[in-house]
Amino acid sequence: MGQISEDPSSPKRIAVLGATGSVGLSALDVIAASRGRLKAIALSAHRRLDELLRRAIAVKPKWVIATDQQAADRFNWRRLPGDCQLLTGPEALEEIAGHEDVDTVLAAIVGSAGLRSTWAAVDAGKTVALANKETLVIGGALVGKLATERGATLLPVDSEHSAIYQALKCGHLCEVARLVLTASGGPFRTWDMDALRQVTVDEALAHPTWDMGPKITVDSATLMNKALEIVEARWLFGLPAERIAVMIHPQSIVHSMVEYVDGAVIAQLSPPDMRLPIQYALEYPHRRPAVAPTLDWSERLTLEFEPPDFERFPALELGFRAAREGGSAGVVINAANEAAVGQFLEGELHFTEIVPACASVLESHHFSPSPTLDELHQLDGWARREVENWVCA
Ligand code: NAD
Ligand code: MG
Repeated sequence: MGQISEDPSSPKRIAVLGATGSVGLSALDVIAASRGRLKAIALSAHRRLDELLRRAIAVKPKWVIATDQQAADRFNWRRLPGDCQLLTGPEALEEIAGHEDVDTVLAAIVGSAGLRSTWAAVDAGKTVALANKETLVIGGALVGKLATERGATLLPVDSEHSAIYQALKCGHLCEVARLVLTASGGPFRTWDMDALRQVTVDEALAHPTWDMGPKITVDSATLMNKALEIVEARWLFGLPAERIAVMIHPQSIVHSMVEYVDGAVIAQLSPPDMRLPIQYALEYPHRRPAVAPTLDWSERLTLEFEPPDFERFPALELGFRAAREGGSAGVVINAANEAAVGQFLEGELHFTEIVPACASVLESHHFSPSPTLDELHQLDGWARREVENWVCA
């Protein structure tokens, strides 16, 4: 499973889950540029079914999955290629993620909606190219255990974790002093508290260096994205929160670093473009000619780093706390954040209320040190309802 093929007549078969999103569409670019080494065997989307159909006509996958049943029933599928099988409803994701004809699952669905299919892929022992960081934030301990039991491989797509994964090849895990996650700082890096209170949805959706889906763009503005990435790193690399640091790096060129015990720091650099970490994960263990722009060494390059301001960006402390406590803390901050971001995008919550809402829900929840998968699903629903109550209060 997940074997590398050099033979274009037997390409690596990729299930692109979340194919109409920012990561999914970048992945389709990477696959198209792979000279037949990679083949999109399945494409999924939730509601942008016109985009899904357009991609299916171009790529001709074996399966097309439309997860929102009502939207799928209303949609006109007449132009779907004849040899493309249409599957509808969320359960189809799990069926395809574990299917024997799939080599690698690209988990690029946004939010906790990506958990079940990622779980199914890990359960089937697949290679999982993981963009959906929420899966590890919610259930990192359980997913890691399952991956070991089933022989599944998790390859990070998140640019910071991809950088760390690459930098970890320079030493042994026991020789690592700390992982240094870089953060662009988002659009409000230099704003004071008064200005932050007035942030509009449009301002929060305009990221200075990365072009991403709306939820992660808002998360990058609150630095909740970095908080989630601290938890993601904790489970992906098995290092405690005390050995994870965050540095603000506005240029988004250094994607993260590993500091070894001898003081050597190994970093991965490239222009901010998700096609490189996606390509690295899909083509792993090979490196292939660039599909994304590369650094221009004829130009002046300035790299700045500064420690984050925990007062203006309190999300970071929540991330460290969830990474330290483990258990049910991750699912609660993740679900509370998804609900709070939804409320912000609908104009029901101020920008500066997103993180306090999450902190309040985390504070009031009944901590469980080792929740089961069922308990994680229940806590996810509970935390979302708590945010609604918080907004109404
Ligand atoms: P996006 O909003 O652009 O796309 C999300 C995709 O998920 C779409 O294809 C959509 O149809 C699908 N989807 C949405 N709700 C769904 C549901 N309920 N059930 C099934 N499918 C559903 O998101 P994105 O920016 O591409 O991010 C995807 C994931 O990758 C997130 O977990 C994000 O944190 C992570 N990530 C994204 C980037 C980036 O540059 N965009 C970088 C690193 C990590
Ligand atoms: Mg990232």
